[in-house]
Amino acid sequence: MYDVIVVGGGPAGMTAALYALRNGKTVLVLEKTGFGGQIVHSPKVENWPGTARMSGNEFADAFLEQILDQGAEVDLAEVVRVEDHGEYKTVVTAEGDIREGRTVILATGVRHRELGLPGEREMTGEGVSYCAVCDGDFFKGRKVCVAGGGNSALQEALLLAGKCSEVVMLQDLPEFTGEKKLQELLLSRGNVSARTGVRIVDLEMDEHVQLTGVTIENGDGTRETIACDGLFIAIGLIPENEAFRDVAALDRWGYFASGETCETQTPGVFTAGDCRAKSIRQLTTAAGDGSVAAMAACRYIDSH
Ligand SMILES: Cc1cc2nc3c(=O)[nH]c(=O)nc-3n(C[C@H](O)[C@H](O)[C@H](O)COP(=O)(O)OP(=O)(O)OC[C@H]3O[C@@H](n4cnc5c(N)ncnc54)[C@H](O)[C@@H]3O)c2cc1C
Repeated sequence: MYDVIVVGGGPAGMTAALYALRNGKTVLVLEKTGFGGQIVHSPKVENWPGTARMSGNEFADAFLEQILDQGAEVDLAEVVRVEDHGEYKTVVTAEGDIREGRTVILATGVRHRELGLPGEREMTGEGVSYCAVCDGDFFKGRKVCVAGGGNSALQEALLLAGKCSEVVMLQDLPEFTGEKKLQELLLSRGNVSARTGVRIVDLEMDEHVQLTGVTIENGDGTRETIACDGLFIAIGLIPENEAFRDVAALDRWGYFASGETCETQTPGVFTAGDCRAKSIRQLTTAAGDGSVAAMAACRYIDSH
């Protein structure tokens, strides 16, 4: 039986493992695809405090090495169920393996909704981005498009308007769905324009697989290409928490409803990182949650 089983080997899960290990606990981290989480898709990370620049892969590799050095056990396995038996929990994997832990920390992250266009994945980090806070600085003084029209897209565009020479909003619905006040504020910026009722149908690239523009289809079926250096896609995040709702309540958007304490309704089950309801989803906040959840798990173990 492990003291702590962490579900998800992203920054939140690995931070949770680190803090639990340093408190003398035994830790198993189960990760379904590859250790590091979303950040492995980022070619440049420049906002991790204390480190000027590194790639997402370097970040992930260093983190994994650090928890292994501290004695973490890790395994590549998808967790499909967590069962509460009071004093202990069972974690069931897709292969049917059952692991037992005194506590469980759910750090399952999110997926960014993609447009699903050819070249989108290849150009992620080469002009295509899902995060203005992370990548906006790389587009200073350059022209970018933003796909989406909800609050997240409007906020991304507002942040970019302060850095980029031009921001073109592209929304497939006839109007924006985000807050009116945010729309007004954004469109009052001299360098922001909006195209509604248009569908992005193609991503243009050069011979270095670098984005050079986006092709849109207007309501009347005509097509045009907008030249740009960047495309920020803000059409939604997909939490994948459904399988765990019995032990950790979800909010209406599918995020774990645990607050800043990272505790759930099930004693001994905690959540951490992008998978929980929160306003900022970044490496720093994921790491912050990981430490909070781990310390809460350690307190729970020590008091039982
Ligand atoms: C392209 C890109 C660039 C970014 N750049 C930056 C940046 O420069 N700076 C910054 O601060 N942030 C950046 N971010 C955001 C940052 O990566 C996330 O905020 C952070 O990774 C969240 O960490 P997490 O551990 O909560 O979730 P995730 O990173 O999503 O990790 C969750 C992990 O859990 C695993 N998992 C999910 N379900 C299961 C299951 N059932 N069983 C087992 N494993 C499971 C997933 O495979 C994943 O590896 C970027 C994000 C992207 C997509």
